[in-house]
Amino acid sequence: MPHLLTSAFVRDQLALRARAVNAHPERSDGEYVLYWMQSTHRLEENWALRLATREANRLGLPVVIHQGLDPTYEHANDRIHSFILHNARELAARAASLGYRYQFVLRRRRDDDRRVVDRLAARAALVVTDDFPTAGIAERTRRFAARCDRRVVAVESHAIVPAALFEKAEYAARTLRPKVMAHLAHALQPVIDEPPRAAVADALWSSLEVHRLDFTTDLAAEIARCEIDHTVPPAPLPSGREAAMTRLRAFCEVALPDYDTRRGEPADADGSSRMSPYLHFGQVSAAEVARAAIGAVGRARAERFLDELVTWRELALNLCLRTPNFGTLAALPDWVHRTMDAHAGDAREAVYSLEQLERAETHHPLWNAAQNELRATGVIHNVMRMYWGKSVLTWSATYADAMRYLIHLNDKWALDGRDPSSYAGIQWCFGKFDRPWGERPVWGTIRSMSLERAYKKFDARAYERRWNGEELGL
Ligand SMILES: Cc1cc2nc3c(=O)[nH]c(=O)nc-3n(C[C@H](O)[C@H](O)[C@H](O)COP(=O)(O)OP(=O)(O)OC[C@H]3O[C@@H](n4cnc5c(N)ncnc54)[C@H](O)[C@@H]3O)c2cc1C
Repeated sequence: MPHLLTSAFVRDQLALRARAVNAHPERSDGEYVLYWMQSTHRLEENWALRLATREANRLGLPVVIHQGLDPTYEHANDRIHSFILHNARELAARAASLGYRYQFVLRRRRDDDRRVVDRLAARAALVVTDDFPTAGIAERTRRFAARCDRRVVAVESHAIVPAALFEKAEYAARTLRPKVMAHLAHALQPVIDEPPRAAVADALWSSLEVHRLDFTTDLAAEIARCEIDHTVPPAPLPSGREAAMTRLRAFCEVALPDYDTRRGEPADADGSSRMSPYLHFGQVSAAEVARAAIGAVGRARAERFLDELVTWRELALNLCLRTPNFGTLAALPDWVHRTMDAHAGDAREAVYSLEQLERAETHHPLWNAAQNELRATGVIHNVMRMYWGKSVLTWSATYADAMRYLIHLNDKWALDGRDPSSYAGIQWCFGKFDRPWGERPVWGTIRSMSLERAYKKFDARAYERRWNGEELGL
């Protein structure tokens, strides 16, 4: 039986997911509840929007949804801008049918007006926003809440099982798995989203903001006018909820039954869900993906997929919430530090600069193929992503350089970059969530992965042909 917005289930979930970011009360003279959409770019299964709507209904006020995009985020580029904007166009078209007013403000140049959210907040009773530890969002929220004179609440919608249930840093997937899986069925219960009861009057709407993006314009032309890096082109993956749902249905029907085997073959692009960009930007919720998978093949047959989607993805969130400096070597366990110290001076097979790596100019065609896939599509197949990350560890002058290079390449080129799973995946390459293995030069006791061995495990030549341009005739 689905739960209503006013049910005990929703109240309990919100109690776990919402946190006050400042100590101010709500304002009685507020004209609306502001939902500042930052990381959860959807109107469905959005816990922050649920809280904003519930609070608005309690106060008899309407909800205003604001989303903005600045040229100042790290690696701001056409790829990220385009993915966000095409989804925003869908949101703008859908919001009214759900009873909401939604606006998008594109700040094209660094010296354009930067205080839009502050102005909107100044007329709100309270502000609800997304709680997200990466992509600069936690920092931006903290700075905003410190200067805002009314209640600011951040709500976590990233995880299926509320992250607040796991207060300590988890040691490994095996420590989180039984706990998170025990909560899964309860957390997956569907909710019927009631619309907001009060509508935003036209006079209020037109008084709010004059610089709203008009989605009938050519988005590529808008992006071209932005003061961002135009050398990273849009990825071919279509953005938006409709595209995500189409892909999800196809995956559940065709590949999910054989996920255990197909996900291990990098030349088989359809063997895994390819949901990570949609999940990163919150265009779909992980709960919807999990329900679709269980609905298609049953919980038992979906278990391997759920292990990635729930255990590993929520372990990544736990890392970024509970471990200081999650993007540096400091997040690694003591045994890794000891082995890195012991092997810091070992001779490297090759040492590449960040620029050489970025241009896929290494001696190894298989690594170059992975980097080319990343540049062309904005993703790397999971199996190749492990080889890609592990190789850079051995091809950099220091371990710290290697981690810095990987974060730079991933955050700049990957559509799913700047995500908790980005940092967890890269940290895993350095031994995080793993155990010591046999000692080797440079690797020390960190698990090694040799590109040469990859040829025995999967059809690496097919993958190379695909991404080094031979099939494309480059
Ligand atoms: C060096 C390195 C960097 C990585 N960077 C990212 C990144 O920037 N963004 C990102 O989302 N994932 C990252 N991963 C994890 C993983 O490679 C991707 O999530 C996965 O390949 C995405 O493809 P998919 O959607 O087809 O996954 P599927 O196999 O279909 O899995 C479904 C979902 O589960 C989650 N998931 C799967 N594997 C993992 C994992 N190992 N850790 C955490 N979550 C997982 C993702 O959300 C994924 O979309 C990285 C892994 C490594 C080794």
